Parts: sequence; structure tokens; C-alpha cells
Amino acid sequence: MRFEPKRLFADSAAAPAANDLPARSAVKVEETWNVDAIFADEAAFETMFRTVRDRLPGYASYQGRLKDEAVLLEFLNKANADSVDLGKVYVYAHLKRDQDTSDAKNAGLEMRTRQLFAEFMSALSFFRPELASWDEDDMSRLIKAEPKLEAFAKYLDDIIRFAPHTLSDGEEKLLAAFSPVLGSGASTFSTLTNADFVFPHIRDEEGKDIELTASRYSRLMQSTSRDVRKAAFAGMYKVYGQFQNTCAGTLAATVKRHNVEKDARHFPSARAMALFDNAVPEAVYDNLVSSVNQHIDLLHRYTAMRKARLGVEELHAYDMYPSLVKDVDVHFSFEEARALVMAALKPLGDDYLAILDDAFSSRWIDRAENRGKRSGAYSSGSYGTLPYILLNWQGKLGDVFTLAHELGHSVHSYLSNKTQPPHYADYSIFLAEIASTLNENLLSNYLLQQWDDPDKRLYVINEFVDGFKGTVFRQTQFAEFEQLIHEADNRGEAITAEFLTEHYGEMNRRYYGPALTFDPEIALEWSRIPHFYYNFYVYQYATGFAASSAFARRILAGEKGAVERYKDVLRAGSSDYPIEVLKKAGLDMSKPAVVEEALASFEAFLAEMEAAPL
Ligand SMILES: [Zn+2]
Repeated sequence: MRFEPKRLFADSAAAPAANDLPARSAVKVEETWNVDAIFADEAAFETMFRTVRDRLPGYASYQGRLKDEAVLLEFLNKANADSVDLGKVYVYAHLKRDQDTSDAKNAGLEMRTRQLFAEFMSALSFFRPELASWDEDDMSRLIKAEPKLEAFAKYLDDIIRFAPHTLSDGEEKLLAAFSPVLGSGASTFSTLTNADFVFPHIRDEEGKDIELTASRYSRLMQSTSRDVRKAAFAGMYKVYGQFQNTCAGTLAATVKRHNVEKDARHFPSARAMALFDNAVPEAVYDNLVSSVNQHIDLLHRYTAMRKARLGVEELHAYDMYPSLVKDVDVHFSFEEARALVMAALKPLGDDYLAILDDAFSSRWIDRAENRGKRSGAYSSGSYGTLPYILLNWQGKLGDVFTLAHELGHSVHSYLSNKTQPPHYADYSIFLAEIASTLNENLLSNYLLQQWDDPDKRLYVINEFVDGFKGTVFRQTQFAEFEQLIHEADNRGEAITAEFLTEHYGEMNRRYYGPALTFDPEIALEWSRIPHFYYNFYVYQYATGFAASSAFARRILAGEKGAVERYKDVLRAGSSDYPIEVLKKAGLDMSKPAVVEEALASFEAFLAEMEAAPL
């Protein structure tokens, strides 16, 4: 079943674990989320936990009997109800854990629900293979015999369309048994880079000796001190360079696994197999890559603008991340941020604002910074719970953007839960980042209307432009590289460190253009990107950003019906395939227009930055 509680993480900088933060017990209740709305107390949680667990053995009796309309309907209703209950148990436990990770009791709750989750998946594991072994007309016969099954038609179709790509029982069992082995390229890479690598010590801005770590790296890359950035860059690639052959080995194994599986499952390519999951046409991917390449001069202009604004003789790879403008010294109380976000999102209509009101007054949001709290920000919930938001509120402008972003996810979940039955309430990642980045887009626009101060305006524009560079250009570069290595392997070429470095280096020069001085280390960047193990996933960040940019333009231009069409996307859940959902809302992602339009917005903001005095 599709019921995985949504856990959508935003890219907000992790706050350092400060010791002077208050204990969780000292936090004011209005700064916390209302977890009690799920279960009044732990006794109620435990009762539900046991109820769900006790129902699991009952599923075995359905196995092999689903080709009977009454049995199938009963099974689907039962699985729906149980998945809602399990979602509540799961969300309750993980929110409790995240609000204070140092609380051992809550960590225990979370571990137990994870286990229950695995048991549930295992109890239902016969379902998909059993359906995928049917003929197409079996389903229409059952729906004719039991019209109530019509409510599950797309859901069932979505399983049956895998039939031509499903292997025999024995082969599927063998593949499943081998799956830890097949995934060992990715897991070895993760262990190697997260656990085994030892990075050198460097000096930070204050001359303090610190150990370089993967998580510190991105913060250090934004440092205003060039020496610090340069040292971090050199230190990072010294280690990756030393292990480049092992990293090439883990990546090559992953690529090979995808290519072997696509042959076994009768797909023309690994990419076709990955996109089949959400029924995304390959034209969507091709259009993204070709549109971005056609306008790659915009990224070259960006690089040249960055070089000019930083005032450096040579722009190096370690100069690509520091902010190009002075940090604006503005501080927002949470109440001010609330008012600002409400004003910025006003174009979305009164009903949208009413949901936001509910989010604030019914305590969806946990904003307190306290000892042991999980860092960063996310939106998380399930069908039977509120769409909760975790923040670590510090009152910076970036925090206001994070709030708008997470509210985008949560209102999306709220509308989709409210409109759809449980089996259609979840939505794919292809749609998820549209709702969040659209809110950020509206907030940027609102601030630019409100603010006259050139420094503050430039700050907002810089955030947008850098966000665009990181989301659209960089993810498209990754998407193109992913395709290149899978095709090369398919042709029988050896995916060695030498091969990867040569092609990545070439691509990096092509993307960033002549203003960026070529550092040989950057050609090794392929070796440290975990996204290359995700299997044709990251292109969705770029298409999502482009789609939200197109929606924002239509909404802000006051185009008739634009707001309602956008809200239909939020209400759709997975009741239809994401490409179809967007098509109904007027965006055809299989044509270049949407990406082209987003690139035009980027160009307009880029031109403002180019024109701004240094
Ligand atoms: Zn997000």
C-alpha cells in the first residue's frame, strides 16, 4: 500500500547543537506542536499500537484469494483502515523522538513503530505480486461485478501495469533475496564516506583548528573567508582523490545493477525503468536537459556576474557558494513572520489563508529551539494526523522562507488528505516540491514589492538566483551525468575513475563556462555526490522548481482560473499520474515551454544582479 508517512525535508542549514538551549520541558507550549491531537496520552498510543499489531496475522487468509470481487474489496478496505492507524502510531512516535532526540523513552517508541511498520509491509507483501500476475481483463471483470472497486481503479491499474515487467515468482524471490547484495554499491559508498573517511583538520575563520566533516563542508563552502573555503575544498578532495577508484567501483556497481535489472524486466533503458514508477514520459527528462543546455549561456553569465561581484582575479570552484551580497540585518518575531507569510500568500485566496490560520492556531508547528531537538526543518504527517512542521526558529529572513516552504508542503498534505481517500492521499516527489517552492516564490515577490532598500532587495534576488542555480542548473547537470554513465555502461564501456573524471570535468566546463577557472579537483566531484546512487531521481527537483515558477507567474499575473487550477494540483494526491495532474492544470511538462519560462524568470533576476552596483 502507498501509505508511507510523508517526510519531506527542506534544505535548511542545520543549527549547531548549542548547550545553552533550554531543555524540552522548559519550552512554552505555544511554541510546540500539538502531538496530543493524535493520541491524548501514551496509554492511547499503546492501545492503538497493539490493535494494529494484532490485526496483522489476519492478512495471511487473503493470500491467493484476491481474484474474487468481495474478497478484494474487503482486503483493500482493511488495508486502508490499518494503514491510517499505523500512520498515526508512526507519526506520533517520530515527532516525539524528533522533539528531543536525547529522550531514550521516545527513541524506544520510535524504534518499536519502525519494527511494526516492517511487520505490516511484510504481512502485505503478497499483494502486489499477486495482482501483477493477473491478466488485464481480470480487473475489469471484477470492477463490473463489484462497482465499489471503481474507487480503487487507478490504484489497481497502477499495480497491474507492472505486469509485463514482473518476473516469475521464483525469479522475484531470488531478486528480493539478493537485494542487499545488489544495493551494496550504494551502502558501501555511504559507509565509506560517512563512517570510514578521515578528513584533515583546517583552520576556521577565527583561526581555530577544526576537523573537516562532510556536514561541515557545505557551511564552510559559504564562508566569507576565501582561505577557509580553499582549505576545506583541498582537504575534501584530497581524501576523495585518494579513494577515487573505490568510489568509481561503488558507482559502477550501482549503474550495472540498474542496467542488469532493466534487461531482466524488459525495459529499453535504466532511465525508462526508473521513470515508469510515476509514469513520467522520458520526453520530460529530455526536454529539461536540452532546454537547460540551450540556455547554458545564462549560467555562464551567472558565473561571470559572480566573479565580478566577488572581485576576484580568478573564480575557483570554491568561490561558487558564498553569498554575493551583505547579510541583511533584519530580525522577525514569529508573529511578524506569520503576518508576513500570510500577506505574501494572499494571492492564493481566502480558503488557503484560512488553512494557514488553522496551522498557526491549532499548533501544527513546533518552532522552539531546545536541547536535543532534531536540526533543520520538515513537514511530516499522515492521513489521520495534522500535517506537522518542525522548525528551529531563529528569526532570520532565511527562517521566514523555511516557514513558507514547509507551510507549502503542509497545506498540500492537508488538501490532498481532505480531498482523497487514503490510497490516493499521498503524492509523488514530482509534485511535492512545487507546493513548497511556489510559496517561496510568492514570498520573494512580496518582499521585492515591499522593500525599497537596495541591499535588502538584492539579498532577496540573490537568494532566488542562487536557489535557481542550485536547483535547476546543478540538478540538471546531475541528471545529464546520470544518463551518460548508464548509457556508457550499457554500451559496454568500463566505468572507471578515469572515465568518470574525464566526462565530469568536461561537463562542468560546459555548464559553468569560461569565467570559472578549472580546478582539477572539481572533475572528481562525481565521487562525492550521493545523488548518483538515487536512480534518476534528482531531475524532479529541477522540473518541480520550473513548474512552481510557471504557476507563480500565472498567479501573480492574475490569470483567470490560475489559482483554482493550482489548488486542483494540491488536491489531486495520487488520484492521477503527476504529469496528467499538471497537464490538467495547464502545464505540459513534456514540452519545453515550462522550463523555458522558468529560465526567462531567472534571466530577469540575473539581469538585475548584473546591473546592481558592486
Ligand atoms: Zn521541501
